Amino acid sequence: MRKKVIAGNWKMNKIATEANEFVDEVAAKVPEDKQVEAIVCAPFPFLAAIVDKTKNTNLKVAAQTMHYEESGAFTGEVSPTMLEDLGVSHVVLGHSERREYYNETDETVNKKTHAAFNHHLVPIVCVGETLEQREANETMDHVENQVTKALKGLSNQQVADTIIAYEPIWAIGTGKTATSDEANEVCAHIRQVIGKITSPETAEKVVIQYGGSVKPANIEELLAQSDIDGALVGGASLKSDSFLQLVEAGT
Ligand code: PEP
Repeated sequence: MRKKVIAGNWKMNKIATEANEFVDEVAAKVPEDKQVEAIVCAPFPFLAAIVDKTKNTNLKVAAQTMHYEESGAFTGEVSPTMLEDLGVSHVVLGHSERREYYNETDETVNKKTHAAFNHHLVPIVCVGETLEQREANETMDHVENQVTKALKGLSNQQVADTIIAYEPIWAIGTGKTATSDEANEVCAHIRQVIGKITSPETAEKVVIQYGGSVKPANIEELLAQSDIDGALVGGASLKSDSFLQLVEAGT
């Protein structure tokens, strides 16, 4: 059985005292349960302190993006080497906001996915369609293309260890959630695509999250679907009690 992975994406929110308070309230309460994993995706300035605070707890720590190069003249960027050295365990790649505002492409996502594995970071690869693409019936082709390009050149084991987050862009931060059936249909398609490019056994191991206005009120129905193995959550992950409710739903 695949584990459930609940990841809270804080985006560009909180200051250090708020980040530390959140982790103080949450870290010790994340259950030691092999079937559920809780991750906080924090802004770069807070990562070192959060990694330190979460040692000996079950709360994992992710960065929200990174460069694919190990070092060099890339002013303002953060490398996979730095994240590995800090003790970060996961990294979000190709979030639609990075694709829209920071020129993230399927090609850079692929380079970053390889870089993540070279540095013992688990990539959380985001894919998803715009409202126009959904209305034009292009959702399945679009996510197939994104997933295929993101995973290009990885070994079957690396693919099995990758987390895919299916996030329809029209549902992110809008309060509009895909219905659980709509979300499951796309997650099942993603698993099929992964099965084609690797093997059905590999595809069965891949954790596929849904993201887009997930909250305590709708997470249980989403997690009850056959191909939804967790959630990438923005707004509802900012408050410690609501994040803990989301994690609880995965247990
Ligand atoms: C996200 O940040 O990836 C996200 C899905 O945000 P929200 O839950 O606020 O829609």
